[in-house]
Amino acid sequence: MILRKSLVAAALATAIITAPIAAALTSPAAFAEQQQAKGTVYILATGGTIAGAAKSATQTTGYKAGALGVQTLIDAVPRMKDYAKIEGEQIANIGSQDMTTDIWLKLAKRINELLKRDDVTGVVITHGTDTLEETAYFLNLVVKSDKPVVMVGAMRPATAISADGPMNLLDAVRVATDPESKGRGVLVALNDTINAARANTKTNTASLQTFSSPEVGAVGMITGGKVRYYRQVEREHTTKTPFDVSKLDKLPRVDIIYTHVSDDGVMADAAVAAGAKGIVSAGSGMGSIHKDTYPALEKAIAKGVVVVRSNRTGSGFVDAAQQWKDCVTADNLNPQKARILLQLALTQTSDPKKIQEMFDKY
Ligand code: ASP
Repeated sequence: MILRKSLVAAALATAIITAPIAAALTSPAAFAEQQQAKGTVYILATGGTIAGAAKSATQTTGYKAGALGVQTLIDAVPRMKDYAKIEGEQIANIGSQDMTTDIWLKLAKRINELLKRDDVTGVVITHGTDTLEETAYFLNLVVKSDKPVVMVGAMRPATAISADGPMNLLDAVRVATDPESKGRGVLVALNDTINAARANTKTNTASLQTFSSPEVGAVGMITGGKVRYYRQVEREHTTKTPFDVSKLDKLPRVDIIYTHVSDDGVMADAAVAAGAKGIVSAGSGMGSIHKDTYPALEKAIAKGVVVVRSNRTGSGFVDAAQQWKDCVTADNLNPQKARILLQLALTQTSDPKKIQEMFDKY
């Protein structure tokens, strides 16, 4: 505990000492850019490794995620103030493997409230990387603003040598204050890379370069302190979706069934028994399902459960040629994201045709 405190104190002291030196070295162009900075960026903290603390500076696994508060994260990166007035709020302080619908709804409602204010330029959300992609896609579907919403995390705890959190946080604020970030939906800034919420996924358990967008690629980079975009986000999001969280206090239950050799439908039966209104099949290959699972899915569909066919390969699409019964096909949404869209879709309709239209659009 004492060691942990002294490590955090050391990190803060380094940040405080280096800030004036770095300011003195700022180029005229960067200085002019900083002077143009205005508005407030809210950092909404939810925990994760970016707020994680370990027993030693060399420990990078087995640490406690969500150990430090939002003000500690802000104090460690004074240069963020060059871009905006920084305000912090603690929404939760958890490892993101424990993320819940309640926290999602609280977060989404707070973001929508904040972004209505003229003085707020954008929002940055600090989050564990494990389920960051899910929160990003949920917010991408329910935030009602064009202003930047940027998610950020870290792969090394705040106490580690070369912790990646502080630079990632500064980059996230750079993205949130860049006018070019508007209208791109929720963005994820980590390790110099900007990915869009729909395509972004965690691809490695430990590497700093864990987030990528299989098939479609990243939307931009943060290099030399500058935000650079290279492509647009085509699928509709935020203000263009019909999903309204202001009226929601829970989401329908949707379970994911992971296909495997000798899959016999037991998990599908269990999901229905638990009250699932939807099932996402993480099929093998192009959404293929074991023959012994079909009877259980057929029973589920007969009870009005909506089945979406996604795939477990990590990339690629499942198209209408894989149609079976009235199943919905997930396009190239991975199972965990297909689950979120199905949950939101089920707040509006349980008609598989209408839900398919949503999967073709968002
Ligand atoms: N288990 C951590 C979390 O998701 C991992 C991380 O943040 O990188 O909160």
